[in-house]
Amino acid sequence: MPTDLFIGGAYRSAAHNARFPVIEPATERELAQVAIAAEQDVADAVEAARVAADSGPWPAMNAEARARILNRMADGIERRAKELGTLEARDVGKPVSECVNHDIARAAKNIRFFAAAAEAWTQEASFSDAKFLGADLKLMSVTARSPLGVGAIIIPWNSPLMLATWNLGPCLATGNTCVLKPSELAPLTSLALGEIAAEAGLPPGVLNVITGLGATGAALVNHPDVDAIAFTGGVGTGRSVMAAASGSLKRVTLELGGKSPNLVFSDADLKRSAAGVARSIFRSQGQSCVAGSRLLIDRRIADEFLALLLEQVSKIRIGDPLDAATEYGPLISASHRERVHAFVTEAVAAGATLLCGGSVPSKPERGYYYLPTILDNIDEKSRAVCEEIFGPVLTVQRFDDEEDAIAKANATRFGLSAYIWTTRIERALRVANRLKAGMVWVNSFFLRDLRTPFGGARQSGLGRQGGRYSLEFWTEPRMICMTYGEDSHG
Ligand code: NDP
Repeated sequence: MPTDLFIGGAYRSAAHNARFPVIEPATERELAQVAIAAEQDVADAVEAARVAADSGPWPAMNAEARARILNRMADGIERRAKELGTLEARDVGKPVSECVNHDIARAAKNIRFFAAAAEAWTQEASFSDAKFLGADLKLMSVTARSPLGVGAIIIPWNSPLMLATWNLGPCLATGNTCVLKPSELAPLTSLALGEIAAEAGLPPGVLNVITGLGATGAALVNHPDVDAIAFTGGVGTGRSVMAAASGSLKRVTLELGGKSPNLVFSDADLKRSAAGVARSIFRSQGQSCVAGSRLLIDRRIADEFLALLLEQVSKIRIGDPLDAATEYGPLISASHRERVHAFVTEAVAAGATLLCGGSVPSKPERGYYYLPTILDNIDEKSRAVCEEIFGPVLTVQRFDDEEDAIAKANATRFGLSAYIWTTRIERALRVANRLKAGMVWVNSFFLRDLRTPFGGARQSGLGRQGGRYSLEFWTEPRMICMTYGEDSHG
């Protein structure tokens, strides 16, 4: 398990040899001691990426040659899927089955997808007429695209390898180089990526991985030699990243938090919707940016629906993340569990009804576990309804009709995703078009074609990722206009 910085194609310790402990959420024990990149190490990583971007072979390769190496990286991830999935389960506390079958599989797919997308990407030419120096000319204007240079990729702790590859796939496939900074809470699989990249033949300096605390990320985004920043994390950090980017006008994309509504209409398939709502909030213990944390139900079916939902919740298998049968593990840290619990106690003290959860389970005895929690009769202005908890807490509100449902769904400063549960196609489309969210799912959760735009409206982010949206972000378009129609040689 690599625990050192990966810079210029090799692992090395940090300048001052400083380290921080990574704690395993399920055991509360130390899993590793990982290097803290000081400002000098950040500068070294950016320098390695700069040299690879300015004079290395990577940007000059064609997309097909880059794709061959990136596909070998994807092969490496797949070959080590069990090992990486187990490491991520220990590092994050997510069930190993979810890590191996979803997150690690998606990490390989992300790289393959963007390698192929960059290879297949074509630019169109526009044809028009113009007059110049008294002559009638025909114009052919084309768009050429070049890599931006050095990318800084900063990711949170909840799905490290999936989010790292979702960003570095398009960054590298379009010929950029990068410095990846994972969260201090779950850095281990990102560090392993260095080894996988080297084995795949990625030229030194194209991918650098630095670990550390928030200050390491801040030093990275402030570095003048970074050309673009892809940041995934909380709204507050996103704001400071954007402010740092303004110093040298770096291109920036922000994938931030959410407070996504689950709208259940009276015509919905209630049993299926209850299973879907439970999955949307309690998957990954609610530590997902797209968690459907606000339940909005048609008043007329509320009691029936809540009974079905509670039945679903009672079936969730809580346990050791390394057990293949486990569906629900611990939260990431003791302090995060305290934060989650504070939202719940505050809501209950203000009169909310606890339908389930609200406490630590008696088993497992160790680990930062917190029961799936549902709060009913809650004040719509309470913090639990308005702020992102990023934990297993679902708030319940009732609506009278479609108009009321839309108004309540949109009563938030976030706008990442929304879920509509209905059997009426007209209603699904009518409502979907009025929700202020970057992504709307109808009768499902989180399924998606990677070509479509992923990202949030309002405070949930800036820009979109996926398919050509990512390829466009990571490239500089250059217009080249050719004239013809009159032979310049007479
Ligand atoms: P944070 O914003 O706390 O941290 C995100 C990353 O930024 C970490 O690597 C962190 O490092 C780093 N960082 C901290 N301070 C700075 C700084 N000043 N400059 C640059 N980087 C910095 O988020 P969390 O890790 O707690 O993740 C949870 C958040 O991520 C939630 O809001 C969630 O919704 C969001 N998220 C959004 C997704 C999306 O696609 N929209 C996907 C997944 C999560 P360190 O940890 O070492 O402090």
